[in-house]
Amino acid sequence: MVRPETRRYGVNTPCIQVECPGADTLVFDGGIGLHWLGNALLAESFGSGKGKAHLFFSHTHWSHIQGVPFFVPLLIPGNSIHLYGRAGLYGMQKVLCDQMNPAYCPVPDFFDDAIGAQVDVSELGKSPIRLGSLLIEYAEIGQLHGSPRLGYRISDGMNALAYIPAVEYLNDAVREAARALANDADLLIHDAYYSDEEYPTQQGRGHSCPRQALELAQGASAKRLLLFNHHPERSDQALDELANALNSAELPVECGRERGVYALEER
Ligand SMILES: [Zn+2]
Repeated sequence: MVRPETRRYGVNTPCIQVECPGADTLVFDGGIGLHWLGNALLAESFGSGKGKAHLFFSHTHWSHIQGVPFFVPLLIPGNSIHLYGRAGLYGMQKVLCDQMNPAYCPVPDFFDDAIGAQVDVSELGKSPIRLGSLLIEYAEIGQLHGSPRLGYRISDGMNALAYIPAVEYLNDAVREAARALANDADLLIHDAYYSDEEYPTQQGRGHSCPRQALELAQGASAKRLLLFNHHPERSDQALDELANALNSAELPVECGRERGVYALEER
């Protein structure tokens, strides 16, 4: 059901694509938006089994992986799709495979070697990932009930983008790790699940609010802030108000929009 009051920003769970000239397709988080992204990619090399994608998960809560079974490029032989993340005790492979259990999911299990694309799963340890000229760094920014959360930084030697979609600043270690990821970033995509007024009553639930996102952006000298991972009940008007309250010439602030495109200016 499309509610008129959420039409502009949308309510799909988190999924972003990062496009870099000459690079493979990069995706961060596999919320339900991944289904729509997959359909768009079918018009490109993924439709003919020649696509290559790398999908990085911030964590494995359902809202960040539930689009994976519905990412159609996974069903097409010849595509190569690499999934990366950290799932702590259970391991990424098991967490993602469990979601394919036929009790929950009608889609053929593309983790089976005989079905669909070449699928690789990597549990992220400590080393950054290098993909051509791109460097993908990550850091653990806390855990919730034993489930680790990662933030990412994608850079090409010129521009940098930081992606921190789920974080709660309960200690200095988390703050420091997030600040390092966002350091001097051209764009910081940051959790703003709660409003500033809601946050004090929601502490310990693993999310942050716009004021904390702004503090991190300012402390890290990020150039631009995109508030992200909105509460699904937040209306378009309420999101406009959150961003307008923080927006300034020194540090532009917007809310992430469904299918929004955000270009980084070349340095
Ligand atoms: Zn979560």
